[in-house]
Order: sequence, then structure tokens, then C-alpha cells
Amino acid sequence: MPIHLLPSEVASQIAAGEVVERPASVVKELLENALDAGARFITITVEGAGQRLIEIADDGSGIPAEEMPLAVERHATSKLSSADDLFRIETLGFRGEALASIGSVSRLTLTSRPHQAEAGARLQIEGGRAAPLQPVGAPVGTVVRVENLFYNVPARLKFLKHDNTERRQIDTLVTRYALAYPEVRFHLKQEGKASLQTSGKGDRREALAALYGVEVARQMLEVIAEEDDLTVSGFISPTSLTRSNRREMTFFVNGRPVQDAALSAALLQAYHTLLMVGRYPLAVLFLNMPPDRVDVNVHPTKAEVRFRNPEQAFSGVQRAVRRALLAHTPVPGLGEQLHWAPDTGWEAPRPLQEFNPAWNMPAEEGSGTTAESPVSTMPEPQSSPFPPVNPQPGLPGPHTPLLRLVGQIATAYLVAEGPDGLYLVDQHAAHERVLFERFMAQHESGIPSQVLLQPVTVNLDPASARLLTAQLPILAHIGFQVEPFGPNTFLVRAIPAILAGSDPAAALRALVEDFEEDETPLQSEVEARVIARVCKRAAVKAGQSLSPEEQRALLHDLEMCQSPRTCPHGRPTMIHLSVDLLERQFGRKGAR
Ligand code: ADP
Ligand code: MG
Repeated sequence: MPIHLLPSEVASQIAAGEVVERPASVVKELLENALDAGARFITITVEGAGQRLIEIADDGSGIPAEEMPLAVERHATSKLSSADDLFRIETLGFRGEALASIGSVSRLTLTSRPHQAEAGARLQIEGGRAAPLQPVGAPVGTVVRVENLFYNVPARLKFLKHDNTERRQIDTLVTRYALAYPEVRFHLKQEGKASLQTSGKGDRREALAALYGVEVARQMLEVIAEEDDLTVSGFISPTSLTRSNRREMTFFVNGRPVQDAALSAALLQAYHTLLMVGRYPLAVLFLNMPPDRVDVNVHPTKAEVRFRNPEQAFSGVQRAVRRALLAHTPVPGLGEQLHWAPDTGWEAPRPLQEFNPAWNMPAEEGSGTTAESPVSTMPEPQSSPFPPVNPQPGLPGPHTPLLRLVGQIATAYLVAEGPDGLYLVDQHAAHERVLFERFMAQHESGIPSQVLLQPVTVNLDPASARLLTAQLPILAHIGFQVEPFGPNTFLVRAIPAILAGSDPAAALRALVEDFEEDETPLQSEVEARVIARVCKRAAVKAGQSLSPEEQRALLHDLEMCQSPRTCPHGRPTMIHLSVDLLERQFGRKGAR
């Protein structure tokens, strides 16, 4: 084919592809326009998961009728005039691409009326072609209506995810903006149902509750720090509240949500040694700095920025987070206590059994089979002074030998004596295993439920509520009786009998936490994962003191398990200190 210029329609569809990837990107661009226009009240209406309709109405400045045809042209903006302005951008938009891009892949209707105008005007574009401007009656502000998104780009349609996933992305996106702009009132309606409503009274915790649910929001720690011209503020989770992926680490730079690996790393560094391997905090952090300190023009969807002084941003976040954490969290001294080991000849305790990778939860997004460090109860196993572990000779078989209870230590571990030395049992991991096997044993025949005397209502954030709704059939199958009960609220009538006595609301929350909708197509696998998650929540925790009877019962139940040596997520339930090892440690036998 000879070189030729592309027809302008094709060129604009290609350009649109960069900005408008999915329904949530349309919502993002239109929200940013409304915020730039100084809106105090923004309503977002979504139908057909955003493909049929996205409508955003604001009470902002409006667009003068004579400028409307220009607003939908490519590279047309009121926010920038010279290249120099790029370094003092205080608006969310500046590229002048959004309306043109959206207009080329949908039917877009723009209705607007500025304060001073007598009437409004309406402009319609379909597939990039504009109809003549019409005068209409309209309230002050702007309404952008986007219908039949991607109707003329079938390839794009094919790449969209399940409707529920697209809806959830919209929920999450709008909630994040609501958090960043607490003084703006947001109403989001999806498929005729209110998904999010904020009051616009300036209370960030309100939006936080919408994002994470009331309980989690209450636990989040506040961060406020100012250093030179950088302010870092927002919320982080205490060390007891974590996720298995990095998705809940959100950053805003000057009111703009950004993805930045260095900021994420700074956040994680602040938590260093305080979290278990493979666990990640929740965080919503706002960085504010003078606009000339950050280049926002590096990414088509403005999702990335470049800091003029990356080191300042990085260490600012790290220090602010660390300070907030230390103010709220007593640091466990476990790391130090382990250093009594002599520098030679000490054999590290090791898990008795290789863990079953089938039950390893993904440590990070997209890395389904990453094995976690087996010594996950010790902070920083990588830098521990222990020499590399050698296989222990004379390792007992896969089953636990009969154990004699000695007692509980640190309200977390059971100490037991076996035929060959000492066993330390992690009570939480052990109980998880016990519950899991009981659950799976009942699974074939149907898991018995226990009806609650008093049904319990559980309120979730919109995204989690959506996930839970999709899981209701699975839940019914494993003994939960849960029904929708008002917006984002559920009524729990019965729980699996195995969980009798535990908190039904907590169990339900555990189900949606860390759940990825498109995670796995296999029903049986989804169920097993759901069960593992329920067991984790229901199991006794470290810090819970157990009576001698309970301790003995737990040991006994563990002995009965098929795979007593790992919890359902693959971590060890016990470590073994052999008599041989003890003798060497005490110098009764020659060091090797
Ligand atoms: P950008 O936001 O990068 O300037 P857009 O294509 O998103 O580009 O919008 C083009 C222009 O249309 C904006 O610069 C602004 O002047 C006007 N505009 C768009 N949406 C609104 C709105 N909701 N209220 C007022 N003006 C708007
Ligand atoms: Mg814009």
C-alpha cells in the first residue's frame, strides 16, 4: 500500500483510543470537566454499564453557545494558551481532547448554559459529525450525554470486561473523586439505583466510608504532614488492616489521581517490617505542591505525572506515613528477639511440609503462583541471620504425630511435645486448616446452615456490594442465606453451621475483600477460595487466649486433618524443633 493520509474519521478514532478506553474513562474525563468548571453538585447517570448511557450534569460555569462547536473540536481548550502554561496547570484538563474523542466514538449531546445567558444551547455529534447548534431551555451548568459508546468501534466493544466489572470501575472512580473533592456533592446512579451519594459538606471520612464501608473507614489512620512546599495528607490503614494486592493504594497529586510506582514504593517502605509478606496497606494519599513542581503532560489519560524533585515526593510520602503509623501502632519486637541465635551452627526451624501451591493466594495482581515466604510470621525473613535451611533428617511423615500439649505462649502459639522434640503451632493457621477441612468435607453433601436468631444487616461500599451480589448463588451453596436489603445493604439470615458463634458481618466482609471478579472461571475453584476466605475470618486470631481445653481440642482437631501442616493459604501451621537440634544448640552434641 502506498503511503497516504488517513481519513480524518479514522485518525480521530485512533486518537480517541488513547483517551477513551472504556466507559470509566468517559466518566473520568467528564467528571474532570465538571470539576474544572467549578461545579458544586455533580450527578452521574449510568445505564447499560456505560455503553447505553453516561450522563453527567453539573452546575458549573457552563459553555457560551458560540463556543460550543469549538469545545468538541480536537485540541480546543479554554484551559491553556501557550506551551509555558503547561508548567502552571491548575486544572484537571488541558489537552482539549476529551469531548472530541468521546464525540467520535459515540452519540454525544452537549447542553449548556452559562450564568449570564438567557437560554441554553444544545449540540449533538454522532460518530464525529456535528449537527447544527440549537437553542434550548436549560438550567445553569452543563449536561453531557454520551449514548451508544463505541457503537462504531466494534473492536473496542469486544475488549470491554463483564458489565459488572465496568460498573465497579465506575463506582471506584467516582468514589475516588468524591474523596478528593469533599466540598463537591456527588450523586452516582447506575442502572436506576443510587450507587454513591455524598453531601459535599467537606467531610472526607464520609467519602472514605463510601469507598471502603463504614467499619474500615473508622479504622483508617489520618495522615497530615507538611514539609517545605509539599503537603501530604489523607488516610492509611493500620497494620492490622491489609489486602493481598496493591489495588487499594491510591495517590492524588494536586487533585489528580495518578499511578506512580515510586510513590507506591515509598508507601510500602513506610510499612516495612510492619506487614506480613504479600500483604499491602490501603491508602488514599493527597500530595499538594505548587503546579510548577510537577509535569502533568506525560500521559494521554493524564494518569501519570513527573515530579521535578522525585526524591522530595518520595521521602515526603514515606516520612508522613511512617510518622502516622508510629503514632498509632506499637511496633512488635519480634525481629529483635530472634537475634539471640549464635552465628554458627544454628538450624532454622522450617515448615514441616512443602506448602501446597494450589492454595497459595496470589501475592500480587497477575502473579497467581507466587509462593510466599514460609516464615511469614517473622518480619523480614530475607534478612534474618539464619543460615540457609537444610532438609531435616528424620522428618516425620505427612501427618502430625501425637502431640502432648505444654501450653500457649504469646497468646498466639501452642507449644507441644512430640516423639521427636518440640512443636510450635500457630493457633490461627491451625484453626484455619481445621475449619477448612471440615467445610470441604461437608461440601459434597451440602453445608448445613445455622439460622440466626436475629438477622444481621451489613452495609458495604458500592463496589463490594456489586461483588457480593454476583456471589450470592455461591454463598447459598456454602450455607449462607443472604439477601439484598436496600442500597448496598444485605440481610444475613443464616450462616454456615461451622461458623456458628462467629460474627456474620465480619465473615461476609471477608468474602468480598480481595476478590477479583474475573479471577477464575471455575465454579469449584471459586467456592474453595470463598471457603478458605471464610475460614480465615472465622479462625481464632493471634492474641486470643485459649483455655487448656480449647488448646487441646485444637491440637487434636489438627491431628485429624489431611494436611495438618499448612493453612489453606499455604502458610505453615507449625514448626518443629527436633531433639537433635536442641542438643546441638545447648552444646550437648558437637556443632557440625
Ligand atoms: P479540556 O478539558 O482538556 O480543555 P475537553 O475536550 O474536555 O478538553 O473540553 C473542551 C473545553 O470544553 C474545555 O476546555 C471547557 O472550556 C469546555 N467544557 C467541557 N466540559 C465542560 C463543562 N462541564 N463545563 C464547562 N465547560 C466545559
Ligand atoms: Mg477535559
